[in-house]
Amino acid sequence: MALQSMLNDLQVYCQTWGLKVNTNKTKIMIFEKGRHTSYNFVYNDIVLENVNFFKYLGINLFKNGHWNRTQKKLAQHASFSLHNLFTVFNQLELSIGDKFKLFDSMVGSVLNYGAEVYGYQEGKNIETIHCKFLRKVLCVKKATNLDGLYGETGRHPMRIHRKFIMLKYWTKLISLQNDCLLKRMYNVLKFDAENGLSYGGNNWACQIKQILNDIGMSNIWINQEHITINFQQVKNRILDIYKQEWYSNIRNSSRLSSYSIYKRSLETEDYLNKVNINKFRISLTKFRLSSHNLAIETGRYENVARENRLCTNCNLNVIENEFHFLLVCPKYYSLRRKYLKPYYCRWPSIHKFEKLMSTTNTQMLNNLSKFLYFSFKERTDNS
Ligand SMILES: [Zn+2]
Repeated sequence: MALQSMLNDLQVYCQTWGLKVNTNKTKIMIFEKGRHTSYNFVYNDIVLENVNFFKYLGINLFKNGHWNRTQKKLAQHASFSLHNLFTVFNQLELSIGDKFKLFDSMVGSVLNYGAEVYGYQEGKNIETIHCKFLRKVLCVKKATNLDGLYGETGRHPMRIHRKFIMLKYWTKLISLQNDCLLKRMYNVLKFDAENGLSYGGNNWACQIKQILNDIGMSNIWINQEHITINFQQVKNRILDIYKQEWYSNIRNSSRLSSYSIYKRSLETEDYLNKVNINKFRISLTKFRLSSHNLAIETGRYENVARENRLCTNCNLNVIENEFHFLLVCPKYYSLRRKYLKPYYCRWPSIHKFEKLMSTTNTQMLNNLSKFLYFSFKERTDNS
């Protein structure tokens, strides 16, 4: 039967490479959905143990052929690494850039482990760990908009990075000799992919084909045997497409309506490294990402119509949004005079709001952060 022949092949393969198959410990897993085949498979007179999941080279494979539980296991594992990382952060004073680097090497490496094979999955639990880290670094609320988190830090979801890992592996795979075992297996998958057999989207070659189609580079798939692939070009295209998606999300989010006025590109914000006093920097981050308690935000939770989320700290009868708080509300007039240039204290306009919030000048960023810190303090003290 086919299984016997496969096991024989495996034995020959292992012997060729000087490996031994220990049939006493050999397990078998049947990839199937719903059904539970109870047939006893025998090899060398030993009944093989039929298992529901199997850990191979550190990756959990499940009999339904799905990767959801695999990424969940990786996320669980990474949450311990994240906890250790936070312990390090509590003991050392590190720059934001260094924190990102430490996350990528200590936690990201765990989250991306085996991404070559399962990388196409959504990886919801994996992204939860990533966002938990970003929120903690920026000190913002749990409900903070994810696109805002990516925007401030200049980072992108880990699913984008997993695509790079898959494609990099694919470029290695297709450069192998045709008699190599891996290449032979890939050619089987590729044949199926070209004949529309995706096995419910689980065919790995189909996923590679789909990634290339999605970025408008299906010519690379078609000519994979004849061309040299410029990996950097492919990577840039994936990033460009993600940046467009991110920008469109920012523009369409009612929560980030102020943010979208001044945030234009997916790059790490200068102030994260230029405002060195934590409490001031955190005030600026919270203000930018609407992780605050201005009426525009609290009204959202209390289901108050947008036009009724009015400022109760002045009698102007206008919505208390970021623009009003920063440049208009008379309550903070003296603090404004103290920390902002006179230009920003007279004739408030959206243009001035955009200009001030986009500044990269270190002194202005520090003063802006101080203004926000003390104004919010005054607001809280009086409430
Ligand atoms: Zn006001």
